[in-house]
Amino acid sequence: MSATLSYDALIAGSGLPRLEARLLLSLACGRPREWLIAHGPELVEPSVQQHFEGLAQRRRAGEPVAYLIGHREFRGLRFEVDPRVLIPRPETELLVDLAIEAAPTGAQVLDLGTGSGAIAISLALARPDLKLTATDRSAEALDLARSNACALLGSARAGELVWRKSDWWAEIDPEARFGVILSNPPYIAEGDPHLVSGDLRYEPRSALAAGPDGLSDLRAIIDGARDHLIPGGLLMLEHGYDQAARVRALLQDAGFLSVNSVRDTQGHERISLGVSAMSGHEALTADPGLE
Ligand code: GLN
Repeated sequence: MSATLSYDALIAGSGLPRLEARLLLSLACGRPREWLIAHGPELVEPSVQQHFEGLAQRRRAGEPVAYLIGHREFRGLRFEVDPRVLIPRPETELLVDLAIEAAPTGAQVLDLGTGSGAIAISLALARPDLKLTATDRSAEALDLARSNACALLGSARAGELVWRKSDWWAEIDPEARFGVILSNPPYIAEGDPHLVSGDLRYEPRSALAAGPDGLSDLRAIIDGARDHLIPGGLLMLEHGYDQAARVRALLQDAGFLSVNSVRDTQGHERISLGVSAMSGHEALTADPGLE
């Protein structure tokens, strides 16, 4: 190992972007990033340097910073993350913003595939009136989401949320009806090379990939949502940057009204929405004489 260096020199020589290196060094020395900026020319303890070099090595090999430091900020909130869950993405903040605006007062809201809990917990915090249910097929993910909820909402409000282990609709009460259903489901095609290269390979495959065209989970969600929305209820889905037209077609084929997509800050149609006319069950049993 090289002789003792300053904090600044360690960051500069790490081969990592400065922001990432500073986050890792902050973890290694147990000081906030602001402290590192103020103390840059001082010499680093050998044990801190060793810890940092281990982290930097893992980062250079592709491990996401959020897993190395154990958290990621989402809408200004600090979510604990680890390889049990997808790392929350900035695009998903738009989905939450839209739901905060659109959800009627006191609505029952369902977040399907909650992962770290980013969507459900942000909504619970911004809209104390909403009644939230969050699901995931992974019990491990739900454990982490619950612990994030306790840390960010306090145990009383966290306990008001319903946490349900469910593979999409499998464990949802067939009689349950929601005013808003939203999800950031897996939407990458199984054969996509990004799944085996870069940072994505460290995240749970089950949170990323969805069948040969990436749409199988979106199809399952849209299909079941018809039976679980109140008339006029809103379905809001995040999807891949190039999937909007196909998701809109799925929504229209399923009988959703006012189908449209919203662009993210990169200009990609990233979220598609539809309004339920009536539930599939009601549509099937409606009196044809009324048409
Ligand atoms: N809902 C979580 C998020 O948006 C997890 C999504 C997922 O695992 N696909 O971060």
